Amino acid sequence: MDISQDPTIVAHPSTNVPGSADGGGHNTDDTRRCANCNSVGHDLAICVGPPGFDGAIHGCPCCNTILHTFDICPRTTTMNSDLIYHFLVLLRGRRAPISTRRGYLQMAVERAPSGFYPWTRAFATLVEPDIFQTYDYSRDDPRALPVDPATRNRSAIVRNRRYVLELPVTDDQLNYLCGVYFEGGDSMDSSSSSSSSSLFLP
Ligand SMILES: [Zn+2]
Ligand SMILES: [Zn+2]
Repeated sequence: MDISQDPTIVAHPSTNVPGSADGGGHNTDDTRRCANCNSVGHDLAICVGPPGFDGAIHGCPCCNTILHTFDICPRTTTMNSDLIYHFLVLLRGRRAPISTRRGYLQMAVERAPSGFYPWTRAFATLVEPDIFQTYDYSRDDPRALPVDPATRNRSAIVRNRRYVLELPVTDDQLNYLCGVYFEGGDSMDSSSSSSSSSLFLP
């Protein structure tokens, strides 16, 4: 059964969109500016993209910032697993995944089916930029977004998760990769993280 076609499934359980809703009415009061794409009308938690070069969104969906990642957000220390699942899976239906070391695909497998799941990072890198620019956040209907066959529903995730390479990317790793590929950093430095990160200090 393809649950994505089930109209009874709640499309998008958003936490903090006042007055957004059921009738598809436009929420003209929404003046939030997304920390990821810099557009007004949504926040990073539901931002479709564009993702970073690795296909993930690098920032905190809880705080709407790119100054820290979800994994190091102080607010996550008081979150239960349901809330973490909400940010990493339920709010990310058919969108680029949030960069995290948490095993959100495993969480998805262990929970009741959702109508929509995050794209894999590989899929997210292939999505046309038009999709990010033209998505209607006032309606916020994931059915308008492309389907990643690998995560199209929970059964697909159960089948595919062992093949999906969702390598965790930390800030240090990103800085390192950017240094290697974009700034001509010393890629051969494999010493301790403290000394390698010092390569990228101003
Ligand atoms: Zn955005
Ligand atoms: Zn945060």
